[in-house]
Amino acid sequence: MATRCIRGAITVEVDDREAVLAGTEQMLREIIKQNDIKIEDISSIIFTATNDIKSVYPAVAARAIGIVDAALMCVQELYIDGSLRKCIRVMISIESDKPQSEMNHVYLEGARVLRPDLVKKKSKLAVAIDGPAGSGKSTVAKLLAEKYSLIYVDTGAMYRAVGLYCLENSIDADIPDEVSRVLDDINISLENSSGMQRIYLDGKDVTEAIRTQKAAEYASKVAAIPSVRAALVKLQRSLAEKQSVIMDGRDIGSNVLTDAQVKVYLDADVEERAQRRCHELAEKGIAADKAKIEEEIEQRDKNDKNRECNPLTAAPDAVIIDTTAMSIDEVSDAIGSLIEKEINR
Ligand code: C5P
Repeated sequence: MATRCIRGAITVEVDDREAVLAGTEQMLREIIKQNDIKIEDISSIIFTATNDIKSVYPAVAARAIGIVDAALMCVQELYIDGSLRKCIRVMISIESDKPQSEMNHVYLEGARVLRPDLVKKKSKLAVAIDGPAGSGKSTVAKLLAEKYSLIYVDTGAMYRAVGLYCLENSIDADIPDEVSRVLDDINISLENSSGMQRIYLDGKDVTEAIRTQKAAEYASKVAAIPSVRAALVKLQRSLAEKQSVIMDGRDIGSNVLTDAQVKVYLDADVEERAQRRCHELAEKGIAADKAKIEEEIEQRDKNDKNRECNPLTAAPDAVIIDTTAMSIDEVSDAIGSLIEKEINR
């Protein structure tokens, strides 16, 4: 024979003597039945009750059902925000031949809920990177996604896909009602692998097609429409619920993932950002007019910062990094150290 422990819990509707004792008795009888216990084998019972039970000590119920020799103790729990209310818990010590693994713990009336302070920390990591066009968000986000095995979510691509749809279907992006009307017909899906995201519009791969100047202009217009934002934010949040993500955009830290563990806002002088865009285009063999690009970026910044619905802004708890004089490696190392700090916490 060895001492074994059995746990149990029950909630009651009201705090009155009758209800508390009836509930406690029901739980004790169920524990005894499920574990085939002889009353004389019970050596002690510890009862706890949440601090909204004041009418009676639940331990009284043990004596009422004939547990007379066992030592009883009854204590009140501290109130932990969000925990179950009117809950009675027990830990019963018995002498038994059976191994501990065969003990049946009993939870009744919805009492199988861990106290919030015992629930494991959310294991999914969310990294939010915001900033204006050309601040280097997507370049570093892709590198970091690969390095830390995170899913890269490029939210700008989603707004661009809606913009491209409007462009291709002659929907006037300046008229919110027109765009709202076709929103249900726009089918966006994403595919992620090794730090890359491919985006599909009605099943067609538009990853490259959304990168045109015109698609960016339309994206900026549709991004100011609340119904468009509501639909895309819903999709973005659902992606972050399922997996650890690094998400870039304009309102990720301030609106989409407000509880992201790492929030960064990247900024850079507009001239430097235009220079980077020219460089990117030159690498693809496309000639670019820097002054025109600068003008276009400034216009988009203005639209993004001044729209009413979820404007471009740094979340109050974001780390702001000015990347004007920094290399890509320096920026990704700076964000990487924030991610590592969070991973090792
Ligand atoms: O980042 P990217 O330049 O691809 O974004 C295209 C446009 O989508 C932005 O100019 C902005 O208007 C919009 N956007 C947004 N909110 C986000 C991401 C992008 O409004 N989270």
